[in-house]
Amino acid sequence: MERLMARLRRQSFVLLVAIAIAVIAAVAGMNGWGVLALLLVMTIVVLSSAQPIEPKPIAKERPVVEEEPASRSLLPEVSATLSALDIPVMVLAGDASVLFQNKAAEKAFGEVVIGAHISARLRSPGILDMLRETIATNAPNQIEHSERLPSERVYIVRSAPVELVVHSGHAERLYVLSFRDISEVRRIDRMRSDFVANASHELRTPLASLRGFIETIQGPAKNDLKAQERFLGIMFDQTTRMSRLVDDLLSLSRLELKSHIAPDEKVDLVPLLGHVRDALLPLARDVGVEMVLHLPEGKAEVLGDRDELVQVFENLMENACKYGQEGKLVEVFLKNDAGTPVEVTVVDKGPGIPAEHVPRLTERFYRVSIEDSRSKKGTGLGLAIVKHILTRHRARLIVKSEVGKGTSFTVRF
Ligand code: ADP
Repeated sequence: MERLMARLRRQSFVLLVAIAIAVIAAVAGMNGWGVLALLLVMTIVVLSSAQPIEPKPIAKERPVVEEEPASRSLLPEVSATLSALDIPVMVLAGDASVLFQNKAAEKAFGEVVIGAHISARLRSPGILDMLRETIATNAPNQIEHSERLPSERVYIVRSAPVELVVHSGHAERLYVLSFRDISEVRRIDRMRSDFVANASHELRTPLASLRGFIETIQGPAKNDLKAQERFLGIMFDQTTRMSRLVDDLLSLSRLELKSHIAPDEKVDLVPLLGHVRDALLPLARDVGVEMVLHLPEGKAEVLGDRDELVQVFENLMENACKYGQEGKLVEVFLKNDAGTPVEVTVVDKGPGIPAEHVPRLTERFYRVSIEDSRSKKGTGLGLAIVKHILTRHRARLIVKSEVGKGTSFTVRF
């Protein structure tokens, strides 16, 4: 507009000069050709002194999509918003160069040089193909992608086109690459299906043996009372094993339901440990183990659920008797010193547990030796139940074991 006004002003000036010359010429008595030549010279001089006028860009009311080199940065608001997200996000230009990467992406995939092609950091052909397709078709896409290093992770990677306003005030078509971490969901799914498979397997084995014995009693051993008696004894053991397993499974599912509720009853561990020891005396006698309690004077109170704590110490002391029977001695230490957490440690002098098994002991159905556990009427769920109960009690289980020397399980409240 300003330039237009200037031009008009210049043209008016030329017109005025021309009129002035014509008037002076008339007054001075010049002839028509002289006046015309003078006017022509004046016009050329004035016009040649004028600046060339560049076409002004048309004012844009709304941003228009433009392609620019991939060297600019996003608006600070956009970067700040994406940085606050806890899922990895990258913003790419139409040539697949990285314009921005948020903190979560930096943590997951390492730092990317801004302006570098995405393939400098992510080499997965799947992601690169998907991105190529999104850029070509302008349509969102997603794929599943797994990373092995630094740790195993599974992501749903999504590429989507977006029109973003960048610094210059223009909107640009950019591409957002986001990574939804589904590793935890996958792990839980796998655990659930492993659990169902394990539970079914544990129940199927005694069921198959029961079926076999029933068929034998109905058929070949129909009239063999002695064999029948022996088979019925085994069948009784198998059904007891199945009920133990079902009880443990129910225990676990009940504990899972209330895992977020912390118990608030005051429980004195001194009489509780005495009660557990008394209940286990017949078993200890059967396996030839002596159980010794080392209890402090007075009370040792913790906030808890009495029945669940009985279950914890029954499990640990029973395991110490069963798996540490070679050591012939199981000791239980209760520590209740002022200023330190209450601790109960169950120690046996058995064969110990090889180090590689220790971190997995509290997994459901995990056993160092399946045969050993079965022969000792184990279900493989005892320590999983212990861990669940202790989590609800905000307590920790610490396992120390040395092969050939024995094992200690400490519960720290
Ligand atoms: P189980 O029903 O088989 O006893 P647990 O969950 O209680 O299941 O224990 C898991 C496994 O941990 C056992 O099968 C056994 O191999 C091992 N274990 C537990 N306690 C001890 C111990 N005191 N000494 C050696 N091994 C043990």
